[in-house]
Amino acid sequence: MTNSTPQTMGQQFGRRSWAEPWKIKMVEPLSMTTRQQRVKALAEAGYNTFLLHSADVYIDLLTDSGTNAMSDRQWAGMMLGDEAYAGSRNYYHLEEAVQGYYGYRYLVPTHQGRGAEHLLSRAAIKPGQWVAGNMYFTTTRLHQELAGATFVDVIIDEAHDAANPHPFKGNMDLDKLEALVQRVGAAQVAYVSLAGTVNMAGGQPVSMANLKAVRQFCDRHGIKLYLDATRMSENALFIQEREEGYADRSIAEIVREFCGYTDGGWVSGKKDSLVNIGGWLAVNEWELFEELRNQVVIFEGLHTYGGMAGRDMEAMAIGIVESMQDDHVRSRVGQVRYLGELLTDWGVPIVQPIGGHAIFLDAKRFYPHLPQDAFPSQTLAAELYLDSGIRSMERGIVSAGRNAQTGDHYYPKLELTRLTIPRRVYTQAHMDVTAEAVKAVYDAREQARGLRMVYEPRYLRFFQAHFEPL
Ligand SMILES: *Cc1c(COP(=O)(O)O)cnc(C)c1O
Repeated sequence: MTNSTPQTMGQQFGRRSWAEPWKIKMVEPLSMTTRQQRVKALAEAGYNTFLLHSADVYIDLLTDSGTNAMSDRQWAGMMLGDEAYAGSRNYYHLEEAVQGYYGYRYLVPTHQGRGAEHLLSRAAIKPGQWVAGNMYFTTTRLHQELAGATFVDVIIDEAHDAANPHPFKGNMDLDKLEALVQRVGAAQVAYVSLAGTVNMAGGQPVSMANLKAVRQFCDRHGIKLYLDATRMSENALFIQEREEGYADRSIAEIVREFCGYTDGGWVSGKKDSLVNIGGWLAVNEWELFEELRNQVVIFEGLHTYGGMAGRDMEAMAIGIVESMQDDHVRSRVGQVRYLGELLTDWGVPIVQPIGGHAIFLDAKRFYPHLPQDAFPSQTLAAELYLDSGIRSMERGIVSAGRNAQTGDHYYPKLELTRLTIPRRVYTQAHMDVTAEAVKAVYDAREQARGLRMVYEPRYLRFFQAHFEPL
């Protein structure tokens, strides 16, 4: 070949790889442990991966929340922190980024996503009302419930089936929405709470067509529509890849259009926005904004910092811009897909299609011999840690919690163990090591005996519960 650019070489071998659109400038050593050390560490943590010390963890796939690697530009931005109590210039940069990329009018900064959920729930819910959502998220639903609402899941049935290949498993079922309105009346529905990529369903996206239909439904009934835009740039990639008419639209254009059909939104900046802490809430309606701005000073901080340092707002403003670059989103989701495809090739049961931020191991099919109240997902997370020091997270019956009225466990259809990939942190070699560890645990699956819960906190029990082997 005369003219061997990487691209013509790719064509020559019939394959084209994606690669990270960044290079490494600073490294952080990882801790390597022996199996004996891990046995001790896990017992001390009550078999709950949330209670492990990170120093005892090798590859940390607990969460993609706040675990992102910031860019050199973001670190430079940290040095430009304007720590004025009021009117910090970093706040105005953040406002510009939110208005420019998400399109909402009025910004309320918060310390992280749940701060935004708290404020919105208090301002937009009257006790006794209902909130419809595309599957629950832990902190979102809890704040809605604490404000006096009952949460109703209106996601399509396909989302509750880990093997169903539907391309937009985050979609809402309009018939379920209609049934709720028939039952309780539109005036009793506080708002529709839509999440762009549904975490608990396996990082599954919502289509633009579904959103438009939900918007029309809300307009017909005079119901507000608010968006959890925490992983909206990842959702936009799926729209670009799978939905007709969007192949030539940029991630930024798709996010902007999507948000344009909603009345407001909030994010945990710790996910797509590539920072370690931060969040915000933004709405288009002045009256609601006034109420939120009144509340933010009670619970978070002044309305121009909302619990964040100026430097944190600067890093998030820059992170928002970086999170909307097509190359970035493609390689971020590409890495998740790489891990998922290895596991699929090796016959390990995972949620399909592969989602945006994580691989969800299907613990019901992984451990068919374990009943759900022996905590199969929690067991799988424990076994994976023992095998190789890889930390994952339970997303099943422990996360689902108990019904406040009956006191029974909720028994979710999905019993999953999540391998969540931090953004720009691990290499493809780490994904190989992870896939091989999961395979080893899968090969030994018949020996797993399950766990019992020996300590249960009252709220969000998955964070702090203790277990013992059965
Ligand atoms: C993480 C998360 C939240 C809560 O945000 P925090 O920053 O953890 O408080 C809300 N919604 C979704 C979809 C999330 O992933």
